[in-house]
Amino acid sequence: AAPLSTAAASWLAEGTSSPPRVRLLIGGDFVESKATEHVDVTNPATQEVVSRIPLTTADEFRAAVDAARTAFPGWRNTPVTARQRIMFKYQELIRANMDKLAENITTEQGKTLKDAWGDVFRGLEVVEHACGMGSLQMGEYVSNVSHGIDTFSIREPLGVCAGICPFNFPAMIPLWMFPIAVTCGNTFVLKPSEKDPGAAMMLAELAMEAGLPKGVLNIVHGTHDVVNNICDDEAIKAVSFVGSNTAGMHIYSRASASGKRVQCNMGAKNHAIILPDADRDATLNALIAAGFGAAGQRCMALSTAVFVGGSEPWEDELVKRASNLVVNSGTANDADLGPVISTQAKDRICKLVQSGADSGARLVLDGREIVVPQFEDGNFIGPTVLADVKSDMECYQLKQEEIFGPVLLLMKAESLDDAIQIVNRNKYGNGASIFTTSGVSARKFQTDIEAGQVGINVPIPVPLPFFSFTGSKASFAGDLNFYGKAGVQFFTQIKTITQQWKESSPQRVSLSMPTSQ
Ligand code: NAD
Repeated sequence: AAPLSTAAASWLAEGTSSPPRVRLLIGGDFVESKATEHVDVTNPATQEVVSRIPLTTADEFRAAVDAARTAFPGWRNTPVTARQRIMFKYQELIRANMDKLAENITTEQGKTLKDAWGDVFRGLEVVEHACGMGSLQMGEYVSNVSHGIDTFSIREPLGVCAGICPFNFPAMIPLWMFPIAVTCGNTFVLKPSEKDPGAAMMLAELAMEAGLPKGVLNIVHGTHDVVNNICDDEAIKAVSFVGSNTAGMHIYSRASASGKRVQCNMGAKNHAIILPDADRDATLNALIAAGFGAAGQRCMALSTAVFVGGSEPWEDELVKRASNLVVNSGTANDADLGPVISTQAKDRICKLVQSGADSGARLVLDGREIVVPQFEDGNFIGPTVLADVKSDMECYQLKQEEIFGPVLLLMKAESLDDAIQIVNRNKYGNGASIFTTSGVSARKFQTDIEAGQVGINVPIPVPLPFFSFTGSKASFAGDLNFYGKAGVQFFTQIKTITQQWKESSPQRVSLSMPTSQ
């Protein structure tokens, strides 16, 4: 495939409008919105406005849903092998355009190019998984449930489904959603994050090139209004959401009130428990990578390290390694971490760090004043470490959402039991990891910890697509998780068929409940 060129992209409006406007995708065409209101997409390293998204009008939203509804009958009756073949082609096109996609992510979201590449790659793996839909969507069959009677179940697509995305994984999260949904035979309306829609648009362009028929994938832009339209629309049967708890719980209740299936992956506060017997070097590197990678803006970032016996023996080396990280524009070859998404996010993170220090935590590394040469306007925060953090401090935010910045909190526990209790008291349950060389401790942790994704000497235990992303407690609402078997179940409904084929013989009519003997 010819690499995508952002300048000539059909997803950006042509002409002289500066900044360029991002188009909608309706019925297979990238169209300019008639909306008069826009949201700027800003490069977080420079504050340059790189594009603008329209607040999709009600008529345009209607047209997108109608296009998906119209495309559904033909698409659901397309053989699964043909749908799979489009995914085979799609994965090839994504591979050929990895660098362009990563560049766009770095420009709009800020993460380093290498990290952005990983963002695309983790999404690509879901597309690869969707290539096996024929097996994934298989039903079940029991022969001879009664005389001459067989029962079988088939997994059928739901109809029009929708996805609402967050800013932190602009490629991976759209790819968690629509490839599985459409390969199951559904049609889709996607709303990318208003902060970084470019990767989703490029991915949509590639999906069209791979042969996805017109109307199977549609894209609308906006914020609250378009989200509420998605929740309320009767033609939409299922909603996939990833983002904060505020938005997620609103969407969960509003969309389920109109009878939809909803899956919401939400906020997190991921803890690591470090036992004194842990491998020192590997553990320190894991804490640094998972605490500060992507500037702490991963839903599976490790934001709190609970040291059994206290953090003092670890602090000097932790601070040394964290201080050696290079904070720079994500485009710089040497960058370990880039900026956070917005000036508001930076202000909020800095305030939380200050409140930690004011309430008695020790600020052992303070990255708030960092200035990056040539990128003085960027939303940079250097790695920051607060020690002696207690769970009632605002910076730990037991009841609120995560800090979502390059800030690692260190806590002390007296024992493994005490550490597990600290983690379990937190309302979130996305991920938790233990670092130890004791199998007995690891097994106890695995059994007693209340988190959906558990790492044993693994800092970011995000499952590959043959498993599911299994956040729990306040990190998830719904009952069928993203991708894996549950993902296919979410985007399909079961029809159970009971059939009788036998030679007819004269029988007395019976009005009693049929039973199988
Ligand atoms: P966000 O909730 O602000 O936005 C997510 C989406 O919801 C966006 O498309 C936005 O337009 C929409 N939205 C926001 N507020 C809304 C409202 N009040 N009503 C209707 N729609 C609304 O989230 P974000 O800041 O883009 O993403 C960061 C959050 O996402 C973090 O909390 C992070 O933990 C979470 N996240 C979770 C996972 C996971 O798998 N658990 C993965 C990635 C991100």
